Amino acid sequence: MNFSQLDSYLKSEGGLSRRLFLSYSAALSSVPFLGVGCSSFKSYEKFDKNPFTLGVASGDPNHEGMVLWSKLAPQPLQLDSGMPLEGQSRVKWEIATDASFKNISQSGTTVASSELGYSVHVETTGLQPDSWYFYRFHCGNYTSSVGQTRTMPLDSAKVQKLKFAMTSCQSYEQGLYTAYEQMAADNVDLVFHLGDYIYEYAGKDGRVRKHLGKEIETLAEYRRRYAQYRLDKHLQIMHAKCPWLVTWDDHEFDNNWADEVSEKKGVNKASFLKRRAAAFQAYYEMMPLRKTSVPNGIDMTLYRQSSFGQLANFYVLDTRQYRTDQPNGDGKDPLNAAAKNPANTLLGKDQKAWMYSSLNKSTATWNVLAQQVMMATVNTQRKKNQPAVYSMDQWPGCVSERNEVMRFMSERKISNPVVLTGDIHSNWANELRVDDLKMESKPVATEFVTTSLSSGGNKGQGTTFENIYKSNNASVQFHNTERGYILCEVTPDQWLSHYKVIDDVEKAGGKTSIRASYAVQAGNAKILTA
Ligand code: FE
Ligand code: CA
Repeated sequence: MNFSQLDSYLKSEGGLSRRLFLSYSAALSSVPFLGVGCSSFKSYEKFDKNPFTLGVASGDPNHEGMVLWSKLAPQPLQLDSGMPLEGQSRVKWEIATDASFKNISQSGTTVASSELGYSVHVETTGLQPDSWYFYRFHCGNYTSSVGQTRTMPLDSAKVQKLKFAMTSCQSYEQGLYTAYEQMAADNVDLVFHLGDYIYEYAGKDGRVRKHLGKEIETLAEYRRRYAQYRLDKHLQIMHAKCPWLVTWDDHEFDNNWADEVSEKKGVNKASFLKRRAAAFQAYYEMMPLRKTSVPNGIDMTLYRQSSFGQLANFYVLDTRQYRTDQPNGDGKDPLNAAAKNPANTLLGKDQKAWMYSSLNKSTATWNVLAQQVMMATVNTQRKKNQPAVYSMDQWPGCVSERNEVMRFMSERKISNPVVLTGDIHSNWANELRVDDLKMESKPVATEFVTTSLSSGGNKGQGTTFENIYKSNNASVQFHNTERGYILCEVTPDQWLSHYKVIDDVEKAGGKTSIRASYAVQAGNAKILTA
């Protein structure tokens, strides 16, 4: 749905008053990048307190630059973050080859505007390929912390090694971000965040930490929730350590949402779409994303490509915004006619066409789908001698499309497809076949599913259904329910995934260790014990 369609939809629905709708559309349609310097807003640059409380971040790197991010928030836990309702601030940025900023490569001034929550997204170009940099911001008499970032190698470069981490599901209430402190010591080139960066729920007593306020619905509430998460020093440290490629899952907006459909019945559609627009805008504001991801009405383009020389191409997917509603609700079901309906989609037509054409053009050794929900057709039945059931919120709910994607990979001989997944709060290593229920065929791709960074807390650590899941699913090579993340080391010959788990996610000082490592040799999707 584009903006004018939303306009007529909301009018026909009568869910919003005309006056409310006009103010809503004015806020949504403003694109401050076009208005930089010519807005009638008052400029605001004198601060009593440091406005850089949320740290810095970088992301979406290519061979000549990346997005440098920060946000002005002198009172980050106030709904207005301590900034005027309408206003703008000039923010100076610098990027250098040294931490003391003696050798500044580039610098400039950008405008942080109230329309996008005083966030700053600087898209640098013209930097050296395959190089590390330091960056910082100044506003008024304050200077931000310093971040480290890097450019990717040239697309044609024969790169020998890439090291990256993948993470997801970081409930602030259920655990600490100690694992990020330890991830910072891994010295990775990149981080993939695969969704559930925040959770939308109301604060609950008796947990490790507590969300401020009720379930978030307004733009101010989404902004404050992100601020509460990003004030965590370990999360800030990891953002400042290297560029991130982020994508959302459901909780950045609402549990198990599917395009314009809420998980709950009877939700007013107009207010659901208004909430979606607020959630998308707050996500854009808080993440190091390019202009191509600036929200447009209730839409926001998050699917995109990145690459690491000839070694790997990354296709970052959005399996929420364009999907059809989950068949038979969001729970577990047999692979019945509703799940097999070829009209079911997680990708939507445009994203799928883009993904296929990008994969077709790829000359990279590894072709990596960075996405949200499990692609293996996994029978998650925990009881003995009961019929198989599959998660309808994951790829089995769109099993025709899932098999079509795998058939495409197989028929077009896409080089070494690897799928990165989050969402499920447990670790998995899965072999993917055109039809996962036909085990006699050869695996086409490999899926590494990262557990939650903190969601679930210590509860469930060590209890596993490993034996049941493995005996019910020949494609599952590893399953484990501890908290942590996956560290990947990739060369032209081999992919290596280390499952790093943390012994205590609820108390400071938890220690991470490698629970298991699995390898894939280029040319064969079979998972090997490393
Ligand atoms: Fe989650
Ligand atoms: Ca999720």
